[in-house]
Amino acid sequence: MTSEELKQFKSAISITAVAESLGVDVAHGKCRCFYPQRHVHGDRTPSVSISEERGTFRCWVCDDVRGDVISLVQIVKDCGFVEALGWLMEQFPFLVPPSARKEMNQYVARSHEDRPAPARMPEVVAPPESETQELVSEDERKKIILSFLKRLSPVDNTPAAAYLMRRRIYKPVWDKMLLRTITNYEAVNNSLKADFGEEVLKYVGLFNDKGHLRYYKHPLIFPYLDTQRRAFYFQSRAIDDTVIPKELNLRGTVPFPYNMAALDQKPGWVYLCEGAVDTLTFLNQKIEAVGIPGVRNFKTEWLPLFKNKSVVLCLDKDDAGRKGTEYIQKVLDTAGIRSVILGEGLENIKGVMKEGQDINDWFGGKK
Ligand SMILES: [Zn+2]
Repeated sequence: MTSEELKQFKSAISITAVAESLGVDVAHGKCRCFYPQRHVHGDRTPSVSISEERGTFRCWVCDDVRGDVISLVQIVKDCGFVEALGWLMEQFPFLVPPSARKEMNQYVARSHEDRPAPARMPEVVAPPESETQELVSEDERKKIILSFLKRLSPVDNTPAAAYLMRRRIYKPVWDKMLLRTITNYEAVNNSLKADFGEEVLKYVGLFNDKGHLRYYKHPLIFPYLDTQRRAFYFQSRAIDDTVIPKELNLRGTVPFPYNMAALDQKPGWVYLCEGAVDTLTFLNQKIEAVGIPGVRNFKTEWLPLFKNKSVVLCLDKDDAGRKGTEYIQKVLDTAGIRSVILGEGLENIKGVMKEGQDINDWFGGKK
């Protein structure tokens, strides 16, 4: 595990949940010291503060009782760093970054062989970065995506606007989310090709294998705005409902959920739904929402973004949506993030989402 991955792994875990699974009683962010003999009255009034926000703990009497979630495991289980990390990886396997899974399996195999754990962190062999030749650097790739988005038009008075209005998504939301559309496919296609060349555009995923801009049938573009309202990732959508698939994702990893601005680290509720259209539907109702590009696309490395939030899960009412909901709820739960399922417990009330519906249908959008 690289140090960056270790940081993410630690920040995704709830230190309170870990303390509790180690058998420590936590109440109001406090617990008794693990060395009661050092305290008057055996630390009857708990001296250890646990900060869920920072992922740390600290005893106000003992100088050496402090640290992060790994030190907590080390102290309570009286073990070394490697064993503590291995234990956490076993407890939270789905938070372990894929590149470190092998390392985890090795640890688990080793611990069952009953051999002493190595004193140092096992060296992690990172895949050599230059093995596959990069045609353009990551910075260059971002510049090309930005440059593509700059060539597009706002959706006002275009077929994309009509599509959005049928779904009851209106101009204030188009502007807030900087929705864009391709009105002159040939012009965008040709100017990109002239500026960057076909090979580079194929490499960054804007062009298909035939050497054309991919979004001929998917002219509505949803940029994924970062905290500075720039976008290096987007999804595109067909506005003709006979087109399959309805949406295209840009090649590469989804960096964060759609409308990450809603994840502002302030306490409150956020609605989590499938795709940009459902997210925009909520925003139009002035409800804070974020979207994931598909039910299987919730990434555990996003958990720190959800800090201080409670989540209402609003995936589609179908089998895939239910499976996704179950998975995401488990992940959120383990990270100590409260979640509820939209409409749960209200099954017999008129007006709840019906089988096969999504959020946009529910709010009266027309297909
Ligand atoms: Zn103490």
